[in-house]
Amino acid sequence: MGLALYDTLARDKRAFAPADPRRVTMYVCGPTVYDHAHIGNFRAAVVFDLLFRVLRLHYGDGAVIYARNITDIDDKIIRRAKETGEPIGEITARYAQVYRDETRALNILPPTLEPAATGHIGDMIALVEKLLAGGFAYAAEEHVLFAVDRYKDYGALSGVDRDEMIAGARVDVAPYKANPADFVLWKPSAADEPGWPSPWGRGRPGWHLECSAMIGKALGTTIDIHGGGLDLRFPHHENEIAQSRCAHGGAPLARYWIHNGFLNMGADKMSKSLGNVALPRDLLRKWPGEVLRFALLTAHYRQPLEWTDRLLEQSKSQLDRFYRMLGEAPGQAAPAPPASVLLALDDDLNTPEAIAGLHELRDIAAQMTGEAKTRAVASLKAAGELMGLFSNEPEAWFRAEPGEGPQAEEIDRLLAERADDRKARDFARADAIRDRLFESGILIEDGPHGTSWRRA
Ligand code: AMP
Ligand code: ZN
Repeated sequence: MGLALYDTLARDKRAFAPADPRRVTMYVCGPTVYDHAHIGNFRAAVVFDLLFRVLRLHYGDGAVIYARNITDIDDKIIRRAKETGEPIGEITARYAQVYRDETRALNILPPTLEPAATGHIGDMIALVEKLLAGGFAYAAEEHVLFAVDRYKDYGALSGVDRDEMIAGARVDVAPYKANPADFVLWKPSAADEPGWPSPWGRGRPGWHLECSAMIGKALGTTIDIHGGGLDLRFPHHENEIAQSRCAHGGAPLARYWIHNGFLNMGADKMSKSLGNVALPRDLLRKWPGEVLRFALLTAHYRQPLEWTDRLLEQSKSQLDRFYRMLGEAPGQAAPAPPASVLLALDDDLNTPEAIAGLHELRDIAAQMTGEAKTRAVASLKAAGELMGLFSNEPEAWFRAEPGEGPQAEEIDRLLAERADDRKARDFARADAIRDRLFESGILIEDGPHGTSWRRA
């Protein structure tokens, strides 16, 4: 029994067998870098990091090539630059770095490759030329469009039918489209928008094209695993498949398609447009990154997960119990993780069962003494490390607990008080609060979106 994964395209759980076990390839659609990502965006990063770790265990660290792109050219980025007056390159560089820092805080390994869209414009133009030459695309009014009628399996991944497709496309009707469901490969840029010279005039790529071009360049024609959030099935992944297959003589784009479910807040999907978001930036002030990671792993990746304070509190207290046991018999992790946890993860990344396995290992260790206990704890540690957990020394884990300086709730309360003082133009009181926080090691920073704080 080895790894089995639920494949969205096959609509079934399938035994995983890479095309070449010496070079296992995985691509996951990465962030569009124009703002802070919310914790829902990080669900995919954590889930596919776990898959990356499981694949590395099976095939060897050097045999797994994982590419997660950076989308650094996009209408949302252009809009942000127009609003703030900040150059696009500065916005994208800053938020790409914020994203990397936050993934590190959640124990997410750096991917093997991190291709940026703006580094592959030539590959994108070449792909469009191929599609035009094959008769799969057409140029109209400085745009190039993909003709979905030319790809007979369009819709196979998502199961979206023609009516839905056309309904979906209606938001984006354009006179230059032969069929409303056709999608943009290349579009013109206005003089004040970023653009690259192309055979169709100065312009920029469509989002779907970016991924197809980067996959082809970074990993190859047919990759083993393509991943992303459930909402990317249509139109994004459907369009990636159409472009890549038509450009590559029908060769499949990916052998396994894996999609993670949503993180919800209340009854709704956590989403920027609804405003119901929690940002790692804020969460990391109150919780160790490992608590956020653990919380994201408590549900099976294909199930929805509700983000609540209670989930965070429970995740913290479960980790506390594990760390208390790790502290009872400090030492190295066992060379291999125990079968119970590995089998659970091999079964389509069944993290609820893997976490139950961690608790069983902890219970076993609790009943042991001496050498046997050391071995049991080493086994627990190996299981947790496979899941990207237990990266702290137990002593440091408990030392970092709030209690040394003011707690986050206390700081937030003082900052709210200070904001009121400032509104009332009582600057002496406001400054006194700032100084008091400074003395207890809290630095505050006033910005256009309010006041943020960090520990010195
Ligand atoms: P967006 O910011 O909506 O373009 O989403 C960027 C990425 O984050 C996509 O891969 C989405 O699938 C994913 N994503 C956005 N919101 C959520 C959520 N609430 N839960 C899980 N994934 C999400
Ligand atoms: Zn993509």
